[in-house]
Amino acid sequence: MKELYELGEVPPRGAVPEKMYASVIRPERFGEPEQAFATEVVDTPRPDSGQVLVYMMAAGINYNNVWAALGAPLDVIAARQRHGATEDFHIGGSEGSGVVWAVGPGVESVSVGDHVVLSGCMWDETSADIRLGADPMTSKSQVAWGYEANYGSFGQFALVDDYQCHPKPPNLSWEDAAAFVLTGATAYRQLCGWPPNTVRPGDPVLVWGGAGGLGSMAIQIVSLLGGTPVAVVSSDDRARYCERLGARGTIDRRDYDHWGPLPRSEDGTAMARWTESVRAFGRAFWEVIGERRSPSLVLEHTGQDTIPTSMYLCDNAGMVVICGGTTGYLSDVDLRFLWMRQKRLQGSHFANLRQCREVVSLVGAGRLDPCLSWCEPFDGVGKAHQLMYNNEHPGGNMAVLVNASTTGGTSLD
Ligand code: NAP
Repeated sequence: MKELYELGEVPPRGAVPEKMYASVIRPERFGEPEQAFATEVVDTPRPDSGQVLVYMMAAGINYNNVWAALGAPLDVIAARQRHGATEDFHIGGSEGSGVVWAVGPGVESVSVGDHVVLSGCMWDETSADIRLGADPMTSKSQVAWGYEANYGSFGQFALVDDYQCHPKPPNLSWEDAAAFVLTGATAYRQLCGWPPNTVRPGDPVLVWGGAGGLGSMAIQIVSLLGGTPVAVVSSDDRARYCERLGARGTIDRRDYDHWGPLPRSEDGTAMARWTESVRAFGRAFWEVIGERRSPSLVLEHTGQDTIPTSMYLCDNAGMVVICGGTTGYLSDVDLRFLWMRQKRLQGSHFANLRQCREVVSLVGAGRLDPCLSWCEPFDGVGKAHQLMYNNEHPGGNMAVLVNASTTGGTSLD
């Protein structure tokens, strides 16, 4: 066996080479994603108890590795080192598709040769909170793989816990299978995971960033559940993309200017200006759905700039459900409306295994489009994250080919 195999070259089945290629972030390169990622040769990790080494075929691109590249708001390498990790580099990537290549002691749920898609969170199944019945996504032991945990999908081989492996729908290409679980399952938990505020038939739902990864999956899930998705966009092309996915209509956020913090309540002029703009935004929502109803659910991930609008628009007893803060983390909430109108502001983070598996089933059955709109060879990892950072990426999800770059999907069947 060779020490290192080229991307796409297949080692003897189950044999683990000493070295592998990976798209690596190092602290000295923190900054714009295009400069932060570089393809390097590193030691191949070995699976320990309960772990699985996966020969990666394709990897999905997500916003968390924009943050990892910037080194802010968290220096993921330093954070791991504080917990005893020795590696001085980060291999990102929180989802992907590949072939089980080696398993650690105690792994019985998958075998070498299985084709899998990987979900993006890890936890300690023996932790006290999980043993007491907590949803593992709420466990204190939970971390995001390929962000807080190293050896993500941007490596020739990736290291996961066995429960992160889900059977790959055989009808999907490697790249289609690689890039929908993170956004799809996150949106699914936001829309279905927080009873009683789940999407019910007829419910109007506001989806920020409708053409993005989360948004494109959310529009489809709301439609599947019988709701009425209304997407927010910032271009005509994105509006058309959302409508093709099933949005009842779109609101172009460029037509409004009330973004960011709420004006101070004592500043009557500024407050009047804010109210005028947010009301116009609300009227646009009514126009799209054809009636004067507020959204019973608002799918949030944009954060600081949009939370005041989300909270204002949300129906009485409705829910703003948030999983990210692309525009920043510090936001204003007018608490009077929160309690008087009995609204709910709910945090939501990725998805548990059942939610992931349901989304994989829906995509496998052709009921959800994985929305892959951009796929390039492995050295496009930095470029993909840069496009995302600049908000210049095409609608839907993005992926890079890892070993599938030269073998295609058949030599490992
Ligand atoms: P994405 O594909 O880049 O989509 C984000 C969308 O946000 C863009 O399409 C853009 O749409 C919109 N946007 C950008 N700047 C905006 C602004 N100033 N105001 C309003 N909208 C703006 O990213 P994504 O994959 O959907 O992820 C979105 C966020 O969710 C990221 O912060 C990510 O880290 C987070 N996230 C969290 C989890 C989790 O498990 N917690 C999972 C997935 C994603 P327009 O410009 O067309 O409006």
